[in-house]
Amino acid sequence: MAKKKKKEVKVNFNTSWEYAPAPESKDHVRLKDRYDLFINGKFTAPVSGKYFDTINPATEKKIAEVAEAGTDDVQLAVKAARNSYEHTWSKMPARERSKYIYRIARAIQERAREFAVIESMDGGKPIRESRDVDVPLAAAHFFYYAGWADKMDYVAPGKKVHALGVAGQIIPWNFPLLMAAWKIAPAIASGNTVVLKPAETTPLTALKLAEIIQESGLPDGVVNIITGAGATGAAMVHHPDINKIAFTGSTDVGKIIQRAIAGTQKKYTLELGGKAANIIFEDAAIDQAVEGIINGIFFNQGHVCCAGSRLFVQESVSDIVIRKLKDRMETLIVGDPLDKNTDIGAINSKDQLDKIKQYVKIGVNEGGDCYQSSCAIPSKGYFFRPTLFTNVSQSSRVVQEEIFGPVLAVQTFRTVEEVIEKANNIPYGLSGGVWTDKGSKIFKVTSQLRAGVIWANTYNKFDPTSPFGGYKESGMGREGGLHGVLPYVEIEN
Ligand code: NDP
Repeated sequence: MAKKKKKEVKVNFNTSWEYAPAPESKDHVRLKDRYDLFINGKFTAPVSGKYFDTINPATEKKIAEVAEAGTDDVQLAVKAARNSYEHTWSKMPARERSKYIYRIARAIQERAREFAVIESMDGGKPIRESRDVDVPLAAAHFFYYAGWADKMDYVAPGKKVHALGVAGQIIPWNFPLLMAAWKIAPAIASGNTVVLKPAETTPLTALKLAEIIQESGLPDGVVNIITGAGATGAAMVHHPDINKIAFTGSTDVGKIIQRAIAGTQKKYTLELGGKAANIIFEDAAIDQAVEGIINGIFFNQGHVCCAGSRLFVQESVSDIVIRKLKDRMETLIVGDPLDKNTDIGAINSKDQLDKIKQYVKIGVNEGGDCYQSSCAIPSKGYFFRPTLFTNVSQSSRVVQEEIFGPVLAVQTFRTVEEVIEKANNIPYGLSGGVWTDKGSKIFKVTSQLRAGVIWANTYNKFDPTSPFGGYKESGMGREGGLHGVLPYVEIEN
């Protein structure tokens, strides 16, 4: 029997509304001109004597200068962490440890507004996202793992569990405070001490967190935060007295780290790149799915390892979906990250902007059809319009490689089997999305997609109780939930 054609209901986005500027105030933010390293509970000038600038990507103006930790500084930080582990933290009753972690969680909540503004200034993300996602989730991670501290006996019932010692943690620039929370909270809750290095372009909220940690009275040396570039991270990776490396960042650097620690006793977790398939079936609620596509790729300017950067639309609805998607893209406001109306803020750095532009050129040269929203973008700062490619093939580089920007590659499919094969035909395996009104189809597709996290009829939902991590070149190990504790402990058999 011939299928009845779905009647298209057009959502009218063109309301001719003009939004007046709604900037978040910066008056309450306390920032120093210069930040030192946070080692052994104190802010300490670097032995290297070097500092670098951190700039606001929306204005290209310097916000502050930040210490660059050299190998001697890494040595001091590791020594402080070891000393604190041996003499204080590992000796402290677990319920006492948890009190400090709860205190840090509450202090983040108390200073949430300040954290949100600084996150948006330093990294370029819209204030709506730093206010509603990054900061509350960071606090939630500390709350959640504070609860684990005195429950280590239940991590592996019947077995003895103990901490590893000193964890070296290296984080990227896309979720600076949240990644610091993901790393620090499970590590210290399970009795380890840490040395954490934020990314070069976004060090400020980690340093603000250091202030909170200092105020919380956490014993000196439990958390050390050292700033610097790739060389600082490499010095941590090679340090012989670090027991575990936790890394989030690019697959290329993940491979360098894996090679560097091969043959040593160090444990490691790697949370690397992704190129997620967001799959829209013809029976999906199309308008909701379009919102999910927008959220999947344009959240945080597309600087998201689990971004839904490959869209698969069932052929029978591809015209409607793409038309509605383009209509919706036209409504996105690109601009000042501190404005509450902004949907897409600034690209994190000039390097990243250049990389995105390069990929768009590659996509066009490969024969893809490029569509960009016609919105205005500020003349100063690093901004990029929401972009999508159609007429791309499975082998196109914009389909296979992680762009880490607001660029979506759209493909179509006919059958469930076809889309599963296409979705899995990629070096990555971090995340995915499925949109359909059939529960059975959700179970079939999600059980066959090779991805660590898969959302059904939603996208980009995060929760501290839920494990997150990937397969294949997306890394190994899980963060979040009980799974997030396991890489920080030794289980005696
Ligand atoms: P990197 O992987 O280089 O950065 C991640 C972290 O590792 C940063 O703190 C970085 O320091 C540090 N680092 C860099 N080199 C080394 C090294 N040899 N040893 C130890 N640590 C090191 O990512 P980039 O910032 O360079 O971004 C490049 C690309 O990576 C992006 O375009 C994007 O595609 C991808 N990316 C993916 C992320 C993800 O979560 N999947 C996150 C970030 C980037 P520093 O920043 O100071 O150089």
